[in-house]
Amino acid sequence: MTEPEMWEAVQRSDASYDGLFFYAVKTTGIFCRPSCKSKPPKRENLCYFASGEEARAAGFRPCKRCRSDLLEYQPMREIAAEIKARLDKASSLDDVGLTPRRMTDVFKQEYGVTPKEYADSLRLRTAKEMLAGSPEKVIDVAYRAGFSSLAAFNRFFKQQTGQTPTAYRKEHQVL
Ligand SMILES: [Zn+2]
Repeated sequence: MTEPEMWEAVQRSDASYDGLFFYAVKTTGIFCRPSCKSKPPKRENLCYFASGEEARAAGFRPCKRCRSDLLEYQPMREIAAEIKARLDKASSLDDVGLTPRRMTDVFKQEYGVTPKEYADSLRLRTAKEMLAGSPEKVIDVAYRAGFSSLAAFNRFFKQQTGQTPTAYRKEHQVL
């Protein structure tokens, strides 16, 4: 995370950054979570820490207002896990409560891939398993793997594997 991004989050008291970093105020010796409503002073007086422990180690005390000492859990980590669980079940991400961009950042920070890349890998796995291990028609495999058309599925599959679904099936079918 860059300083401008963290500074932005602090100014907006953006709770979706809580747990991702803490900011400390050099002039007061206090550290806060990004959502703290105490308005931060000048930008040059802030410094940033990845954890409350690090802020303490550097000599800062937790803020009584936002209780930065209580933030031992990592809400963003939980949100990332929630996003993953939903992708696993192919359910909607609409009410996760983050913008798509934040969702991508949070997810990538935790799992190293974007939600889309992760969802794609799930769809590809499903498709491969069905092509190799089931007698279902390719069009049915496409629908079961979450594609709305055979063309979209063919395009996706070829892009991911370099093969068409039919060629993949010929090579891997175990029936
Ligand atoms: Zn605070």
